[in-house]
Amino acid sequence: MPRGFDNVLGSLPPDAIPQDFDLSTVPFLDLTEEVLNNFSRSSADDGCLWRDFLCMTGQIKTFYGVDKIKEKWAGYSQEKLPRYFQAGEPEISRPAPSSSWIDVPFAFVTRQEGGLVGNCSGTISFVPSHDGTGWKVWMLRTVLENFEGCGHPDDPSPIFSTANSFSSPPGQLEHRVSVLIIGGGQAGLSLSGRLGALSIPYILLEKESEIGKSWTGKYDGVRQHTIREMNNLPFDRTYKPSDPMLLPAKLVAEGFQNYVKKYRINIWLAAEVEKCLPSNGEIGWEVNVRKGGKSYVIKARHLVLSMGASLSVPNPPKVPNADSFKGDILDLGNFKNSSSWRGKKGIVVGSATGGHDVAQDMLDNGLASITMIQRNKTPIFPIEWVVKGQSSLYNLQTPPEVADRRVDTQPLKISREAQRIHFNAAKEAEKERFDALEGVGFRVDRDANLNDWILFRGGGYYIDVGTSARIVSGEIKVKSGDPVKGFVENGLEFESGDIMEADLVVFATGYQRDPRIQAATVVGKEIAKSMRTSRGLDKDGEFDGNMMPVGKALWLLGGAVSQARWNSRFIALQIQAELMGNPFPQCRWEESEAGRVKITKL
Ligand SMILES: Cc1cc2nc3c(=O)[nH]c(=O)nc-3n(C[C@H](O)[C@H](O)[C@H](O)COP(=O)(O)OP(=O)(O)OC[C@H]3O[C@@H](n4cnc5c(N)ncnc54)[C@H](O)[C@@H]3O)c2cc1C
Repeated sequence: MPRGFDNVLGSLPPDAIPQDFDLSTVPFLDLTEEVLNNFSRSSADDGCLWRDFLCMTGQIKTFYGVDKIKEKWAGYSQEKLPRYFQAGEPEISRPAPSSSWIDVPFAFVTRQEGGLVGNCSGTISFVPSHDGTGWKVWMLRTVLENFEGCGHPDDPSPIFSTANSFSSPPGQLEHRVSVLIIGGGQAGLSLSGRLGALSIPYILLEKESEIGKSWTGKYDGVRQHTIREMNNLPFDRTYKPSDPMLLPAKLVAEGFQNYVKKYRINIWLAAEVEKCLPSNGEIGWEVNVRKGGKSYVIKARHLVLSMGASLSVPNPPKVPNADSFKGDILDLGNFKNSSSWRGKKGIVVGSATGGHDVAQDMLDNGLASITMIQRNKTPIFPIEWVVKGQSSLYNLQTPPEVADRRVDTQPLKISREAQRIHFNAAKEAEKERFDALEGVGFRVDRDANLNDWILFRGGGYYIDVGTSARIVSGEIKVKSGDPVKGFVENGLEFESGDIMEADLVVFATGYQRDPRIQAATVVGKEIAKSMRTSRGLDKDGEFDGNMMPVGKALWLLGGAVSQARWNSRFIALQIQAELMGNPFPQCRWEESEAGRVKITKL
């Protein structure tokens, strides 16, 4: 597991804003402009935080503590000359019953690399000073929105200008584009939309012959476990308000297909990458692609891998004596449904989302017995808790880009703390849910935080959309803490010596975690090995190298839809700056010896 939150500083401020507080009694607009123009030690709380998205630091950075922020703000201000601060209307934020502050949005401009003007936005959060005589900055968030006069990653209008149609003339076998994206799932589509908005020529390659197969190709019962309004692709709402709150795969795929049409995504379907090498002696990539019986060469300055790293290639264990088993063995890659095993005995190995979904499917298809094998305690998050939290932020009243700025700009430690308070209260109020599961032998990790599992594992938990009740009722049995020893002719043997009979065993044991394994299938082992991967959080609570290139002109994008939507805008801006000849420091690559990839150390 990467470095987590254990030593990360930062906590929520107390709830010191009275319920009937009148915002007009304090000149927050003046205060905001005054603080930003002259950030002094006395203007901020000791435990204040600042998170920046490219606009001041050129990276995604979080800083903790008043002294550090004062020093960093002053240092970066000399370079980036932040100016023309314009504050908007203040509002009270109450992310948890025990915490509150005042948010003031603001806009400003900065001087970016090569003299480009950066249009930026931000939010400054005030809390009452300890002595009650004034207000102090507790949190500062700053975001590079766009480069003046160069489009905006949130504004798709240039896509509809015919001059920006990227589709290539039929029959042309060699193509030159600025960006080649490999993998047309939610990550590849999000970045394509952003690049289109910035008028950057790209090609998106997808190996499947239809859009959305990364969802419809999974098992039949799969659906999203985060709410519809959180799962839009960039720009507007991908799904209809009448669509279910938790989208099934078919609707997700339809949403992707409509997006491709609406935003003229330049996608090549059924495209197989045959060879992918760094260009000789220049920055860029040369890629051989086979499609429709023809061979194509694509030369691209930037290569983005969005092939589903960490969350799409199943990782079943090698269990001894599989050959001796007379039944069927499947995993999350080839299990579709269990209708062929009606009346037979099923075992599912794994107790996270996939394990629960497979067990539910076995139940729906009338298997005679169903047993879930649990290795470790599993975090369970009832869907009602998740819907309550997510829909307070992502809903039909709030534009997605506004919700993203509220949620994604927060220092990770802060959003985690707010979620923890809500979940702890819910856990306390509904203890019996977990008691009931433990009563039938399913061990629950009661200390787990959903935020941490999403950030660091991307799986391993279950958002309970109903199957926990089937476990409690005994329709799905559980065997926990007794590791599988191997197969026997008629089932599985456990370390305890127990034998469990089965006709079907499904391994729902998660996905390959290291993105380099999948990347190696395209760029080769040597380049994949040199790709920079995050070791977790630094002490201020930021992922090291967050959204930075993983190699020379090489990028990796993936994650949940909300992550793909938000992160794609910063990758697009970094690529845009590099293409304009004004790269951020992490994209200043030297032309290297022919054919060799040399990664400039950050
Ligand atoms: C059971 C389950 C429930 C989930 N629920 C949610 C949820 O509620 N919300 C959420 O946000 N996330 C959810 N996820 C996670 C989500 O599915 C993944 O995070 C997501 O699919 C990753 O998106 P991606 O675009 O990075 O990759 P993928 O969706 O895997 O897409 C990758 C694409 O790349 C293509 N590809 C791969 N290799 C190549 C190649 N060599 N050449 C060309 N194309 C290639 C693939 O065909 C695929 O279309 C869930 C996952 C599972 C398993």
